[in-house]
Amino acid sequence: MVVGIIIGIHIVNNAKGGHYIMLFPRLTIFSLLFVSSIFSACSDKKTPSPVSKKIFVQGDPYNIVKGSTFNTQIDFPQQVFENNEYALTTGLNFLEKQEETSSTENIRTENGSKEIEQNSLDNQIFKLKKGVGKYFLSIEFEGSFLKMYRDKNGKSYVEAESKEGTSNSTMDLLHISHSEDFRNLSFLMYGKDKNGIRTLVALYFGPPTNILDLAKKDNSGYYYMLGQSRPYRWKQDRILKINFCHPQAEENKDYIKIQNGVLQWQEGLENRLEIELTATKVYPPFSDFNSHCIYIVPDYFSHPSFVSSNDGSTITIPDFSKDTFLDSDIFIFDKEEQKVWILLEKKLSKLGFDITLEERKEIEKEVRLTLDKLRSFVFIHELGHLLGLDHPFTESEDKNIFSVMNYGSSKEITDYDIRAIQNLYPVIPKLDSKNPESLAIIE
Ligand SMILES: [Zn+2]
Repeated sequence: MVVGIIIGIHIVNNAKGGHYIMLFPRLTIFSLLFVSSIFSACSDKKTPSPVSKKIFVQGDPYNIVKGSTFNTQIDFPQQVFENNEYALTTGLNFLEKQEETSSTENIRTENGSKEIEQNSLDNQIFKLKKGVGKYFLSIEFEGSFLKMYRDKNGKSYVEAESKEGTSNSTMDLLHISHSEDFRNLSFLMYGKDKNGIRTLVALYFGPPTNILDLAKKDNSGYYYMLGQSRPYRWKQDRILKINFCHPQAEENKDYIKIQNGVLQWQEGLENRLEIELTATKVYPPFSDFNSHCIYIVPDYFSHPSFVSSNDGSTITIPDFSKDTFLDSDIFIFDKEEQKVWILLEKKLSKLGFDITLEERKEIEKEVRLTLDKLRSFVFIHELGHLLGLDHPFTESEDKNIFSVMNYGSSKEITDYDIRAIQNLYPVIPKLDSKNPESLAIIE
């Protein structure tokens, strides 16, 4: 009896992880945001159908960024407006969905994450313009605008303006972020879409890039975030700083699990990449380029279905011009774990008086232990994504590879994972001031 219950729980928790990496220099995100006529110029183009990344969540998507410190006061240097050609590189749309999704098939089609093949090859050029009058900044595309305003109370909002005139759709502008050189910008917005559904949107702009050149292949066969044998990595000449972004910071019980996860990867990396983990109570939202956070999202289902759970997700923003990552953030969804307890409660109530109070307590204790181990695994797994590893299987292939990146096959980092991560981060010559020759190599 007990065994049956535990196995049942295991199945629910087998569908681990899931990550989203979005690469669509297309305009659909605007039509999602505002009335569809705005920025509609693209929809007539004979290019591959646009890919929009919608992530359905149950409950208010604002919860994803709750607790973050926002900032929309950015002083853009003049160079941004002079050299002002940008491509929309990534768009994320967390959308509230009320109804239950009943099958894994629906979840897959709605939350599918493998869209790299569908990218359009042409860059559409957006131009950043300094605001005049009431608005402080605008993004222009072929005569249509996204204008950013600030009201008397200091609240910022975005309004779309088509060639024909202003729409009545506005969204709150929560946060603006930029890379050091201002070549990458992100805008975080919150509001309702045209159907009145609450939505959180992050738009990322970067230098226009020829997508055909993206993610050059190696011969390794390992699975990386941009595809098999396509190594995209963090810059190795600087420390990768990861933050645990939580109101309790290091006092939260998860912190020690995260420390353990970082340690495992660091050992596997053998000094090829230096990782620094800190905990902080003050932090920006995920859309910020300059902070790589692990967030615990307390109260919503990312997968409304009970047939599987998505305990964690990692969102990574690549820098196409440099084969490196710009940003990556991890979300852990607490409510996914609650599915286990809900299922358990259902099973136990069916048993009624066939089970004593003692037995019930014993089962609950065991479930708690199992969940604790699973949580450690989720952190290691998601950190693997953050570093650049993908699940070691494709849709059609079998899932026999023994890896922490494979769903449930290992709860710890394996030899396969070490080979994959070491291939991703090759040994780089160390800067040695006593040896002028090594300096020459670096130059
Ligand atoms: Zn995963």
